[in-house]
Amino acid sequence: MITAESFKQSVLQWAETCNVEVREIHIRKMKTKWASCSSRGRLTFDRALLRQPKNQRTRIIVHELLHLKYPNHGKMFKALLKAYTGSAE
Ligand SMILES: [Zn+2]
Repeated sequence: MITAESFKQSVLQWAETCNVEVREIHIRKMKTKWASCSSRGRLTFDRALLRQPKNQRTRIIVHELLHLKYPNHGKMFKALLKAYTGSAE
């Protein structure tokens, strides 16, 4: 379990690594998925992610960050996801 504050810190660090601009990070209870993003740089993460293992959190974070650059799950998206997290899922 990590705090919302340190979760946000790691999102910002990954944003720097991925070279994407994040405007807002929200953490709240979500019903159907781990995270969502808007094209304007606003990210929302499920509060339950704070309890997930680090590699799972990282995958979700990088996945959403890459969506700020690539709206779909195309070739580029998958290649970058794999490069950053070691997994293309
Ligand atoms: Zn996606």
